[in-house]
Amino acid sequence: MKSLKGILFLIGSILITLIAWYQAGMTRFIGPGVALTTLALTFLLATRARFLENWFNGIENMYLAHKIMAVLSLILLFFHNFSMASLWGNHLAAQFGNIAIYLFFSIVLVALLGKVLAYESWRLIHRFIFLAYVLGLLHAYMILGSQLFSFNLLATVTGFFSVIGLASGIYIIFLYQTIAFKHWGRITQVSRLNENILEVKLELSQALDYKYGQFAFLKIFQDGIEKAPHPFSISGGQGKEIFFTIKVAGDHTKNLYDHLEVGSKVAIDRAYGHLLLQEGGPEQIWIAGGVGVTPFLSYIRQGAALPGQVHFYYAVTNPSDAVHQETFQTYADQDDNFHFHLIQGRRLTADDLLLTDQTHVFLCGPQKMMDSLADQIKDKEPKASITYESFSFK
Ligand SMILES: Cc1cc2nc3c(=O)[nH]c(=O)nc-3n(C[C@H](O)[C@H](O)[C@H](O)COP(=O)(O)OP(=O)(O)OC[C@H]3O[C@@H](n4cnc5c(N)ncnc54)[C@H](O)[C@@H]3O)c2cc1C
Repeated sequence: MKSLKGILFLIGSILITLIAWYQAGMTRFIGPGVALTTLALTFLLATRARFLENWFNGIENMYLAHKIMAVLSLILLFFHNFSMASLWGNHLAAQFGNIAIYLFFSIVLVALLGKVLAYESWRLIHRFIFLAYVLGLLHAYMILGSQLFSFNLLATVTGFFSVIGLASGIYIIFLYQTIAFKHWGRITQVSRLNENILEVKLELSQALDYKYGQFAFLKIFQDGIEKAPHPFSISGGQGKEIFFTIKVAGDHTKNLYDHLEVGSKVAIDRAYGHLLLQEGGPEQIWIAGGVGVTPFLSYIRQGAALPGQVHFYYAVTNPSDAVHQETFQTYADQDDNFHFHLIQGRRLTADDLLLTDQTHVFLCGPQKMMDSLADQIKDKEPKASITYESFSFK
């Protein structure tokens, strides 16, 4: 299991919290006590920290763990709300607890409704959970101050996770957008490759260290364009010169397609992702669905030597969607290790693929396509390795 370190970290954190509350003889507070830890972990998992990305094998798994911790907190607080009702009165501490819980319930519901909300509204509302967390901490420390401000296991564990939760929340909400974006630059070229795909070339002030297949969060500073960072796979370039290939998916990307100009200022944080094509071994199959071509494009555009035989399947609905088709065809004509297959107007299935127990399959495309192909590949060749990148975090 590739996320084992991350899972063990979460289980260990919950276990030590359970032990601390049990050992202090405060078993009736175990539920809300564990909720304080799972909330701290929820914020920590939103930080995009590199060590967590490694422990969880990708930030999409970190975000999944983040969601699970949030839901677990919700369940624990739901029971706390009922079991402690008799203690609630007019005290400030109790009212902080009330506000925290109802705020938290409302925001988690909104966060879970993510799919029907515009991404930016979803993100903004989502952030108010930090306010609920701070009120929840005030509630806990005001009610149990004598136990939580002393020298014992309970105070240490609760204090430790409170610091982690507060620091992570402050970092992701107030600091990440400024301090994490160290690569500044300008757009030097904008090309509209078809009716809904745009390609941009950036010139950065300092080189971006990335591996073929990785992605980065891109911020664009141009009047009329949203400044929030959006994730895009790096579709080529090296050092200070980087390409992104962007398909219209919603308001932001449509705005980029329609209005992005040469000369606009940009910023990038760092490279993320585990679709590491160079580490895939001597027998590889690459599968791209539509704009899912971008991670593979970086490898081929840079003309990097292949680690062995690579069969690349590029599946598109319409001929005009097959952007950079000629780049792949030219590479295939020059390198006998690279075999290019354009799949157009029909579904790619595992029967199209030459699979062996040594094959490493890399997939990037629409979620449904990847899920269906991954199932078919596992049925056909259970020993083949599969790595895939989804273009969505929610
Ligand atoms: C790892 C990764 C790599 C990607 N690489 C590419 C690429 O190479 N080319 C490409 O065209 N698209 C890529 N995408 C998708 C791209 O990020 C979204 O299409 C884009 O952010 C949509 O923004 P929007 O406001 O236009 O659309 P919206 O309608 O607001 O969003 C459409 C969907 O995009 C996702 N999304 C939107 N904003 C963000 C954000 N700030 N952070 C995270 N996800 C967001 C959400 O899942 C949302 O449901 C990638 C996504 C991920 C997660």
